[in-house]
Amino acid sequence: MPGFELFGDNERKQVQDVLDSGVLMRYGFDGNRQGHWKANELEAALSERMQGKHVHLLSSGTAALTVALASAGVGAGDEVIMPTFTFVASFESILAIGAVPILVDVDDTLTLDPKAVEKAITERTKVIMPVHMCGSMADLGALQAICNKHGILLLEDACQAIGGSYKGKPLGGIGDLGCFSFDYVKTITCGEGGALITNNELYYENAHKYSDHGHDHLGNDRGAEHHPFLGYNFRISELNAAVGLAQVSRLNEFLAIQQRNYTILRAALSNISEVTFRRVPEGGEENYSFLNFFLPTEEITRKVHQGLGTSGVDACFYWYDNNWHYYRKWGHLTNLKSLGKLPKEVVDALPDYANADFSNSDHWIGRTISCLIKLSWTEDEVQQRAEKMVAVIKELV
Ligand SMILES: *Cc1c(COP(=O)(O)O)cnc(C)c1O
Repeated sequence: MPGFELFGDNERKQVQDVLDSGVLMRYGFDGNRQGHWKANELEAALSERMQGKHVHLLSSGTAALTVALASAGVGAGDEVIMPTFTFVASFESILAIGAVPILVDVDDTLTLDPKAVEKAITERTKVIMPVHMCGSMADLGALQAICNKHGILLLEDACQAIGGSYKGKPLGGIGDLGCFSFDYVKTITCGEGGALITNNELYYENAHKYSDHGHDHLGNDRGAEHHPFLGYNFRISELNAAVGLAQVSRLNEFLAIQQRNYTILRAALSNISEVTFRRVPEGGEENYSFLNFFLPTEEITRKVHQGLGTSGVDACFYWYDNNWHYYRKWGHLTNLKSLGKLPKEVVDALPDYANADFSNSDHWIGRTISCLIKLSWTEDEVQQRAEKMVAVIKELV
């Protein structure tokens, strides 16, 4: 998955353009920039590739989620449904705007279970935020139907699934809003960066203003701009955007490498009857950034994960015990450990997660191993890796 593995001349040239002009800021300084508008160019490239009308770059994927929620008018006391298996950015972005994260079980897609989502809806629910973890997507058809029925918004977190698709449409561009991350370890990297995508004119207008102190971006004189509402600074720099511009031009190449490596590993593991694979919703195509599989029990899964590590098969994750990606280790959320006081709307409404029953999530995540698919592996290296993995698993199941 990490695009940084394949840095080259293109990245250097793009960054050099920015350094030569000396304009590191995405707005203004028209006279000095020698025609370089890297953030604008990257937005145009993403808009075309992801088939979304509007793309706005931000300083991170977390910022993209925060700005997406704010741009749709989500605020204090509103409820946002998110999965138990995700990155901590999901609840961080929700809490940042004073909204309440409502955790919901995942199923064998390793993303939101639509039946559990339906049960979690209240009159305060404003958004369903599926997270397309580890390269594959939520059942977007089922979630869209729930959103339509209840008049709520669908916000796709496609930070780990750029380039995947559902029923022929690129992930991220299917919901009312979608988000990507370009942090250092994602399929496409800017060093740090993120993007929001939407077909909704108002959300887009809100997003570019909100992420730049509320600037209305009208006219050529920043000093003369107005501020229709409060905002913050979630801007991306031209240097970061320049790296992303080089990387996005190679997205299809990266995806093809990931698919080749994934396919070799999956074919090898398919011969082991105890191994089953994560379900991909009908009409979905992964971006192949991870190979995700289930083993028969939690105990076996732990043993296999350990065995893979000691045999030198690196980059395989057991999320169930990981500090970042699964609700079991989110004590800071459960206990609302914040530096300052949180809004009363959050404190009063946060469900009692310490005693919540997420056994349906445990059932799947406790038996999941996810192996990162690297871009730099040669075909021979993948074959050797596949053989090692099969040997370790066969010995331990
Ligand atoms: C990486 C990631 C984010 C946050 O992106 P940053 O750019 O690191 O802030 C959000 N959601 C998911 C699923 C991610 O993997």
